[in-house]
Amino acid sequence: MCCKTKKRFLLLYASQKGQAKAIAEEIWQQAKEHEFEADIHCISESDKYNLDNENDPVVIVISTTGTGEPPDTAIKFVKEINDKTLPVDHFSHLRYGLLGLGDSEYTFFCNGGKIVDRRLQELGAQRFCEMGQADDAVGLELVVEPWIANLWIALNQEFSSKKEDTNHNTSPCANTVSNLCVVSKVECLKIEDSELKTGLLTKANISSKLSTQHSQPSLSQSVPPLSQSTLNVPALPPEYLELCFQESSDQDTGLPCVSESSVFQVPVTKAVQLTKDDAIKKTLLVELDISKTTFSYHPGDAFNVICPNYTSEVDELLSILGLLEKKDFFVCLKVKSGTKKRGAALPQHIPEKSTVKFILTWCLEIRAVVKKAFLRSLVEYTTDIGEKRRLQELCSKQGSSDYNTFIRNAGVCLLDLLHTFPTCQPPLSLLIEHLPKLQARPYSAASSSLYHPGKMIFIFNIVEFASHVGELRRGVCTGWLANLVAPILQSSTKGDEVLIPEISISSRLTNSFHLPDNPSIPFIMIGPGSGIAPFIGFLQHRQKLKENHKDWIFGETWLFFGCRHKARDYLFEDDLKLFVENGTLTHLSVCFSRDTPAMVQNTTPKYVQDNLRLFSKEISRILLQEKGYFYVCGDAKNMAKDVNDALVDILITEKGIDKLESLNILAMLRDEKRYLQDIWA
Ligand code: FAD
Repeated sequence: MCCKTKKRFLLLYASQKGQAKAIAEEIWQQAKEHEFEADIHCISESDKYNLDNENDPVVIVISTTGTGEPPDTAIKFVKEINDKTLPVDHFSHLRYGLLGLGDSEYTFFCNGGKIVDRRLQELGAQRFCEMGQADDAVGLELVVEPWIANLWIALNQEFSSKKEDTNHNTSPCANTVSNLCVVSKVECLKIEDSELKTGLLTKANISSKLSTQHSQPSLSQSVPPLSQSTLNVPALPPEYLELCFQESSDQDTGLPCVSESSVFQVPVTKAVQLTKDDAIKKTLLVELDISKTTFSYHPGDAFNVICPNYTSEVDELLSILGLLEKKDFFVCLKVKSGTKKRGAALPQHIPEKSTVKFILTWCLEIRAVVKKAFLRSLVEYTTDIGEKRRLQELCSKQGSSDYNTFIRNAGVCLLDLLHTFPTCQPPLSLLIEHLPKLQARPYSAASSSLYHPGKMIFIFNIVEFASHVGELRRGVCTGWLANLVAPILQSSTKGDEVLIPEISISSRLTNSFHLPDNPSIPFIMIGPGSGIAPFIGFLQHRQKLKENHKDWIFGETWLFFGCRHKARDYLFEDDLKLFVENGTLTHLSVCFSRDTPAMVQNTTPKYVQDNLRLFSKEISRILLQEKGYFYVCGDAKNMAKDVNDALVDILITEKGIDKLESLNILAMLRDEKRYLQDIWA
């Protein structure tokens, strides 16, 4: 570099109890590391500085005292700048940054700083960075640290534009600065030599560059105005758990808490892929042997599958948290004495004698989207100043939209966050305080125990989605189940012997999604995709009842099924045909949403609700005249609503009533438990 300018700034502090002074001294200390030179003075030492002809940037740290007054050390300074005879451009040469300290418990928060800031502006001075307002009520450091971090960026920017102004006037050494870093360490603005050579690097040019480079915020970085905002960060959630490790002689069994009497460990006796390989979603059928347990179920019941987190994700967490060596240690938990958390108690979902690995594998939903309170707590365990600032932004009021975009909507979990913020190292106790219980996943039985004694069958779609960085991820339970049964699936094609895996299941207590008690009552089933599961159970049951009770009267059974492609994901096609053939199923209506539509009654039904409308007379008759049942089951997002809308229209058309009356009838059907839904997201 041919003309290295001295990056000096004036640093003034106005302290009452020493906090502003301590912060100013910290800035002074850090200045050297950032290659600045700071002249530090108490604001009262007016003989050591002169703002009237100060050409370097000025940084002021000022506290507040009493009922919103500047500290005693600033009284003279404030009096001088308040001189009404000063012209409005008195400080037009001055560029400053101001950090105010205060306590939001008091009415005039940060008023000492606000008084000085307002008056400097009135006299023509300009801020080169946002005013910081640090709040002692929640911890000054929440604002102070990011403000200081941003100060170096803003000062660099200030000196660069100053230099540019000089270069623009005097020219020759412009091309010596090739890369200009003016933003945070994660975003570095590059300015081409050519722009400098041609003298195109004006302030406007820089700011347009900045806005282009800043136009892409991400999980790790923000853009103005957020990156320059003063933040309202939520109060730090009080920690309430104390944790110690105890070396264990036993090895972690790797199994969930099977001591609970309601949990049954059952072998997987069969696994079949129901969809073709080119189907959009892969659906698997799993058969469980429940014969050696007291577990029982009725068609239409759902049950819980107890699933672990992915081993790879647990191992990664153990490694990032530095817990690999302690993974088999027992965890002793205690409520912290004197914790400020109201009603603090040990979490019920962590069994008493659990190892570190067990807790991460079976107890905590480590995939849970990180909540703002957790983010706030993670700030305390992050060392890098830039990372701290971004975490603060994401949990702040000002960063709400970034939180929604980059965390909530992107489904960002703890591991995603720890990868993005590598200096964040929370203790295990914090994870236990903030992560929810790992929930068992419910599945509907797709069988009848009359038809398959000692067995229970269920089907599931393997859930797949893209992570926030676009990696393919599978659902916790369905991904785990798919891996578990993969050897069985392969053996059915290769004929190999495989070890029989076991899973833990439990009953779900309440359920009204059952067949009518009286078999003569007709019913209608709507079950697209894997929503067909309970209806296979209904039909198997019905078939057995018919076989066993030849003298009983059986009502009509209607099934509306839908899938994407007839050739790829028509689940239970053969079984359904058989049910129709043997009279178990009176009417089967199937539609394929992605195949070339077939013409039916001058329409081309795509979805189950389209087919429903085609049979409005029969549906109205079954529901209203014959007091039939109407069941809806499935995972389709809008399906239940669309079916409900179709039903409203059907009643309007068939009964000649208005919408309100139609809605009332549906409400009545719900009350009588004749309109039943089993819908999942
Ligand atoms: P999870 O890991 O829990 O993911 C759940 C959902 O969140 C997914 O849909 C996924 O798309 C989304 N998601 C998670 N993380 C992200 C992210 N980072 N980005 C974007 N999206 C994300 N399902 C069946 O297949 N068959 C059944 O018979 C069945 N019966 C049920 C019965 C009842 C009563 C209930 C309530 C649910 C039923 N379910 C059924 C749904 C089932 O319980 C599970 O919810 C489903 O299998 C997904 O579980 P998972 O652990 O694999 O997915």
